[in-house]
Amino acid sequence: MALLPRKDVVIVGYGAAAGPVSLELARAGQSVVALEAGAHRTAATDFHRGSLDTLRWRTRREMIDGRRMALTFRNAQSEVAAPWNGIYAMASTVGGSSVHWSGQSWRFYADDFRVKSALEERYGRSGRLAHLRADHAALEDWPITYDEVEPFYEKVEYALGIGGWPGNLGGRIRPVHPHEGNPYEAPRKRDFPYRPLRDNATDLVFREGALARGLQPFHVPTGVSMDGAWASTEGVRRPGCTYCSFCTGFGCWNDSKTSTLSALLPAAQQLPHFELRPHCYVTRINHRDGRAVSVSYRNENGVEHEQPGDVFILGAYSFQNVRLLLHSGIDGNGQIGKYFINRATTNLHAIFGHRLLNGWNGPSVQRQGVDDYNGENAMEQKLQLPPEQFFVRGAFIGSPSQRVPLESYDLHPPDVPSWGAAYKRFMSENLNRYMGLQLLTEAMPYEDCTLDLDPNYSDEYGMPYCRVTRSVKQNERRMAHFIWDRAKELVEAAGATKVWGERSATAIASSTHDLGGARMGTDPTKSATNRYGQLWSTPNLFVTGGALMPSLGGHNPTQTIWMLSYWLADALLQRKVRLDDSMAYT
Ligand SMILES: Cc1cc2nc3c(=O)[nH]c(=O)nc-3n(C[C@H](O)[C@H](O)[C@H](O)COP(=O)(O)OP(=O)(O)OC[C@H]3O[C@@H](n4cnc5c(N)ncnc54)[C@H](O)[C@@H]3O)c2cc1C
Ligand code: SF4
Repeated sequence: MALLPRKDVVIVGYGAAAGPVSLELARAGQSVVALEAGAHRTAATDFHRGSLDTLRWRTRREMIDGRRMALTFRNAQSEVAAPWNGIYAMASTVGGSSVHWSGQSWRFYADDFRVKSALEERYGRSGRLAHLRADHAALEDWPITYDEVEPFYEKVEYALGIGGWPGNLGGRIRPVHPHEGNPYEAPRKRDFPYRPLRDNATDLVFREGALARGLQPFHVPTGVSMDGAWASTEGVRRPGCTYCSFCTGFGCWNDSKTSTLSALLPAAQQLPHFELRPHCYVTRINHRDGRAVSVSYRNENGVEHEQPGDVFILGAYSFQNVRLLLHSGIDGNGQIGKYFINRATTNLHAIFGHRLLNGWNGPSVQRQGVDDYNGENAMEQKLQLPPEQFFVRGAFIGSPSQRVPLESYDLHPPDVPSWGAAYKRFMSENLNRYMGLQLLTEAMPYEDCTLDLDPNYSDEYGMPYCRVTRSVKQNERRMAHFIWDRAKELVEAAGATKVWGERSATAIASSTHDLGGARMGTDPTKSATNRYGQLWSTPNLFVTGGALMPSLGGHNPTQTIWMLSYWLADALLQRKVRLDDSMAYT
């Protein structure tokens, strides 16, 4: 094994979460090495115009390492898990999944940071939370508040470049455009740096339906650049989006889509103390006397190296962070792997017989949506439900497009055959009249939904795969039905002539919003880390990313992941944490 020179900071994985903290620490003069398992792909070398190839990126999944980062899955603690053969979409590449994400970029609601307290305040006395207790929901507030992290959300928006209409600027609702911006968003101190993308026909039809239902549609905030004039606080200009549509699941050929790769790495690479090492697959965190001392990794040729350091930060995504901790014998008071949350899936498809929707045009994040059923926004409506249908929290409903041809082959209702003349007729008449909705239903953490090491399956180095245990509970089941019915009303109000889909919730191993497993908190018996992601058990070892999050929210999590990374950088630089004591922080 090759022993390498010591670094101040060793970062495992270089995806979304690793980007801000590695840049900020290197800028402050600390020697930082980021060990990334994947290759260093760029717009110039890999994602260029000649490579807009659905087969390569979406079907054969060139960026996804299904061999070393596979998952196993089961529904209950009593079952034997089997290799997960559903979709696993997380990328292994410099920049991680922020490279091939869609770019939908949100701040969480203020109440998302205090779900437990907010629900108890609203429903605690009414007995409405009994179904959650029966299912052993393990709700906890975050150890941080929205007000504390608001400046770090703003930092993300200006460093990575997030466009949108403000919905709540210092308490003023829809202050810039009377019909745009999410009126339910938590108050922001500063407007977005630029406006979002144009709407296409799909979005406008969705909007019509939402307005007809008395809802408040808005354009979702997006990390896709509108034009090339705006420069980020890191001095990066990203050319305006060409609406090419090879977007979700692809690296952007034009660098218009923000990511750790396109927006932060260019600045980090200017710094003498920053080193990025691709093709480094970390297999163990070596620790002694309650301190991490080094990590072991295999390089491209399988040769083992040992990288010592003073501070270690895990940014390898929830599954791999938990897997590495457990495989290294760091179980953080038995808290590692607990309270796993991801989205249960439902889907709704619609055909608009009399309208062309041009859904193939533009990125999927060129999208309208509604939050009228998200969080507790539909509380009054939910309270009208019979007790056996009542649920807490809710979902965002949106109108994604990006109908890449090779992936659209199965967008037909169950009564249309999947081959032959009838299939062809249906597809040629209707594919351009198709809309599939995004239903971002929230799920709760439960005692029996966990991540751990699979006893039966491991990679080529003997490292057990991460085992996911996840089942759908009453709250998710009820929510899925309610949200599906509201979405159906919306598309029908817009003129849908046929609607189908899966109204019930299904548990899956990975929804790309896979949170928990190293939850942050105030109580070391109920959480793995303190408010900065510092492990209670190992004070010079930090986690960053979704594994820290105590709740899922009804929005995509990546802006919150970037925010937490800036939050951690600030804590380290301002010495809010002590590297010998996780309890000593300000
Ligand atoms: C197709 C798709 C679309 C998405 N769209 C959105 C969206 O619109 N909005 C949104 O908010 N979120 C979206 N997401 C989710 C978003 O990509 C993730 O939330 C985010 O990338 C997670 O950040 P992370 O740093 O924790 O993990 P990642 O970005 O996945 O990065 C982790 C990195 O760690 C590396 N790694 C793992 N294990 C090891 C190891 N042992 N050694 C070394 N390196 C390792 C991986 O190779 C990877 O590069 C999407 C995801 C996908 C897949
Ligand atoms: S749609 Fe825009 S952001 Fe997406 S890949 Fe094409 S140019 Fe890039």
